[in-house]
Amino acid sequence: MLKGRSLIEPGNFSLEETESLFSLAEKIEDDEQYLRESCRGKLLATLFFEPSTRTRLSFEAAMLRLGGSYLGFAEPGSSSAAKGESLADTIRTVSCYADAIVMRNPKEGAALLASRYSTVPVINAGDGGHHHPTQTLTDLLTIKRLRGEIKNLTVGFCGDLKFGRTVHSLAKTLARYENIRLIFISPEELVIPEYITRQLQKQKVPFTETRNLEEAMPRLDVLYMTRVQRERFFNEEDYIRLKDIYVLNGEKMATGKNNLIVLHPLPRVNEIAVEVDNDPRAAYFKQAKYGMYVRMALLASILGVI
Ligand code: ASP
Repeated sequence: MLKGRSLIEPGNFSLEETESLFSLAEKIEDDEQYLRESCRGKLLATLFFEPSTRTRLSFEAAMLRLGGSYLGFAEPGSSSAAKGESLADTIRTVSCYADAIVMRNPKEGAALLASRYSTVPVINAGDGGHHHPTQTLTDLLTIKRLRGEIKNLTVGFCGDLKFGRTVHSLAKTLARYENIRLIFISPEELVIPEYITRQLQKQKVPFTETRNLEEAMPRLDVLYMTRVQRERFFNEEDYIRLKDIYVLNGEKMATGKNNLIVLHPLPRVNEIAVEVDNDPRAAYFKQAKYGMYVRMALLASILGVI
């Protein structure tokens, strides 16, 4: 069903297609041998024009676990981008070598552009402050694994909602599920972009915006913390002023529901105190593991081995 398809933003896959990836990822998690070696002979290109730990390594681990191989670069300085090559030319070249391309780039729209020049599927691993659809697959699979279903939830997003691409992708996707309410918690300067709130209004998804994490805390089923995206700021002063505006600590956790799920796409800077890590409601490291399973499911599907 997904064979040969690109994933640029979450809306590229229907709800049914997204759910089928979760079922596949669950099977992979439950049976270590399932799909092992299914991608033997296939090559994945990982082109990272921006830093990454989890996304790149989980894609590479996913490909290796499926029996395939990968090639690529972890920073643009080692590619011809440093000599001034255009993205279009890089992609035209790499798509001669690989069966699929995973790309992260600081420019919004770069993945879409790449998909227009590529002869193989392109997976967006983050385009500037725009989207990060495979993080959304990770986030939703985590909720599904921990709660059994994705519905009847009040989800709070906290931190940098302006530049946080994972927030944009997840909010847009959650809007497709039943009985979801969203609470956006951010400083005035970092509010959720209007193109997201407009879409939510169109889909009649109830949402509120607040500056106050304490006030939202007792109402939440899921709390999605984010770091302030330093690399997208125009000046360091603003970053320093805003960076520690929300810190989730033990005291705030005490006011949360017993079955609250705390997610974070990581990396964490200061926004979650280390003392929260031992709370059973902290799910951010589990999330990193689910990311690998869902990326295995995605690769097996778009490479057409399943
Ligand atoms: N790793 C996520 C991303 O690439 C979140 C972050 O960097 O804050 O968007």
